[in-house]
Amino acid sequence: MHEMSIAEGIVQLLEEQAVSQHFQRVKTLWLELGPLALVETEALRFCFEAVARHTLAEGARLEIVELPGEARCLDCNARVAVTTRYSACPGCGSYRLQLLRGDELRIKELEVE
Ligand SMILES: [Zn+2]
Repeated sequence: MHEMSIAEGIVQLLEEQAVSQHFQRVKTLWLELGPLALVETEALRFCFEAVARHTLAEGARLEIVELPGEARCLDCNARVAVTTRYSACPGCGSYRLQLLRGDELRIKELEVE
């Protein structure tokens, strides 16, 4: 499962940060997620909880901040909201959309102790 390796990556990153920033425990974790990162939030929550067990992130609250997806149409130059990689431009119907944002998957903030 894709979400399991993402959860493992997050916990690994937290462990590295704990060493460099001298904290013992993660209480809350804010994760920014774009619609094109193709992550199932419920699956990610489940995997994170499982992976975090017996680590510094055990019991941490996972707050998912959902970001909008946005693209520019290469044919009519409109900026359009997108939720998938294969959306059509609502103005002219073109599929030539250049993604501007929406594939984010990153830790925004941590509450630690
Ligand atoms: Zn267009």
